[in-house]
Amino acid sequence: MSTQTTQATDPRTATTIPGFRGELIAPGDPAYDTARAVWNGGVDRHPRLIARCRGSADVVAAVRFARERGLEITIRGGGHSVAGLAVCDDGMVIDLSTMRAVWVDPVDRRARVQGGALWTDVDRETQVHELATTGGIVGHTGVAGLTLGGGLGFLARKHGLTIDNLLAAEVVTADGAIVRAAADENPDLFWALRGGGGNFGVVTTFEFALHPVGPSVMAGPIFWPAAETTDVLHFYRDFVAEAPDELGTVVRLGTAPPLPAIPEQLRWRPAVAVFSCYVGPLDEAEQVLSPLRRFGTPLIDLLSPTPYADFQCALDEISYRHGWHYYWKATDLTDLTDDTIAVVADHAYAAGSPRSYAAMFHLGGAIARVPADATAYVGRHVPHNIIVDAAWLPEEATQHATTEPAWARDFLRALEPHRAGSVYVNFLDVDDGSRVREAYGDAIYRRLAEVKTSYDPDNTFHRNRNIEPA
Ligand code: FAD
Repeated sequence: MSTQTTQATDPRTATTIPGFRGELIAPGDPAYDTARAVWNGGVDRHPRLIARCRGSADVVAAVRFARERGLEITIRGGGHSVAGLAVCDDGMVIDLSTMRAVWVDPVDRRARVQGGALWTDVDRETQVHELATTGGIVGHTGVAGLTLGGGLGFLARKHGLTIDNLLAAEVVTADGAIVRAAADENPDLFWALRGGGGNFGVVTTFEFALHPVGPSVMAGPIFWPAAETTDVLHFYRDFVAEAPDELGTVVRLGTAPPLPAIPEQLRWRPAVAVFSCYVGPLDEAEQVLSPLRRFGTPLIDLLSPTPYADFQCALDEISYRHGWHYYWKATDLTDLTDDTIAVVADHAYAAGSPRSYAAMFHLGGAIARVPADATAYVGRHVPHNIIVDAAWLPEEATQHATTEPAWARDFLRALEPHRAGSVYVNFLDVDDGSRVREAYGDAIYRRLAEVKTSYDPDNTFHRNRNIEPA
C-alpha cells in the first residue's frame, strides 16, 4: 500500500495545500532566498509562498488554493523575464523549476517538454537525435515564457518562430481545469497561446515539431573594432538581405566578452560582432559566409563547425549571468537604413558598464511566411529588431543603477523615427506595462481579450504582459 503523502505542509506557516505533493517554501525557510531569486538580480520580491510543483496535479492544487485564499499568483517557468514577472510580493509563486523533463519521439520528430524546462534541456535531448526546434539564443532561458511570447532564435528564419513549431499545449486554467490546446482542440486558446504570453493559464506541457539540425553547424561570432561599426552594418544589411533562410544572425554591439577563445588584450574592448549559425551543410555554410568573413579587418573570427547544443549556450555564463542587474529597452525596426545605422553606431558604445550592449536579430524568412493572423505574434513583417540591454554587477549599483537605464532609454528615444510601431512582448521591461498595446496592436489585442474572457474572466493570471478580459 502506498505511503505517499497527499499533502505538503510548511511548518512555519502551517500552510497546507490539499493534494499537493511538491515542495512549499515560505519566508524563513533556508531555501527561500534562492527560490525567490530570478535571473535579473535587480529584482528583489518576497512572495508569501512558493509552491514548487512536481506535476500538473500540483499545479491544479496550487491554482485552486491560491484562488480560494485570494492570493495573487505568479508563474515561474525559467525565471528569465527581465521584469521579474515570475515573482511578486506577498503572493504565491507557482514554481515549475523542477518540471524540466523532455521526451523526444525521433520517428515522428516531436518533443514533449514540461513547463519549467530550459532551452538547454531541450537542445540536449533533441540533439541526441540530431534534431532541434527553434529556441532562444541563451541556454538558461525558460521554454515557457519564451514560447508563449513568440520565440526568436537562430533557427527561426529556416524553421519559423518557436510558436510556429508548437503542436499542442496542456494548460491548467484559472478554475483548476486541465485543458489541451491544439489546432483541432480549443483552437481559440491555441491561437492565443502562440504570442499571448502567460495570460490564459499555466502551461504544464508543450509539444513541438522537430527538424534535422547538426549535430555540427557552422556557427560563432566575428568581431570587428567598434570604429568599423558603420561600415560593418552597411555591409551586414545587404549581406543578410540576400542570405538564405539557413543563416540566422544576431549583431552584438558592446564589448568583446571574455570568451575563452578571445585573447586577453581583446576582452572588454569595444567591438561589433556578428553571431552566425548556418543550419545546412558545412561546405555550403563556408561559401555563404565567406563574404562576411572577408569583410573589413576583423579582430577575431571564431566561426567554425560547432556542436549546435554547445553554440546555443556558449555565452550563458559569460554575458548573461544570473544575478547581475539588467534593464532593457527594445523595439522592432522598419529597416536598417543609413540613418538607423548612424543612430545605432552613435549610441551603442555610450554605455558606462562594459557589460551593457545592444543586440539586433535578423528576422524574415520563415517567420514572415506565416499569415499575420495565424497566431497572436505581431511583427512578422519586421526585418530587424533591437534590444538595448543595460547590465551591471550588483556591487556597481551606485555607479550604474541610474545611468545605465538612462543610456538605454536615450538610445530608444533616438531610434524613434526608425521604429516599426511594434515591439516583441518578451523584450518588455518593468516600466513597459503601457507598451502591451504596442506589442500586440489593436486587432490582435481585442482578439486576445476575447479568449482571455473565456478562459480567465477574473484575470487571475495578470502578473504578465496583461491582456485584460474584454
Ligand atoms: P519567467 O520569468 O519564468 O516567465 C515569464 C512570463 O511567462 C511570466 O509572465 C510568467 O507568468 C509566464 N510563464 C512562465 N512560465 C509559464 C508557464 N509554464 N505557463 C504560463 N505562463 C508562464 N527571447 C527570445 O524570443 N529569443 C531569445 O533568444 C531570447 N534570449 C533571451 C536571453 C536572455 C538572457 C533573457 C533574460 C531573455 C531572453 N529572451 C529571449 C526573452 C525571453 O523570451 C523572456 O524573458 C521570457 O519571458 C523567458 O521565459 P521564462 O519562462 O524564463 O520566464
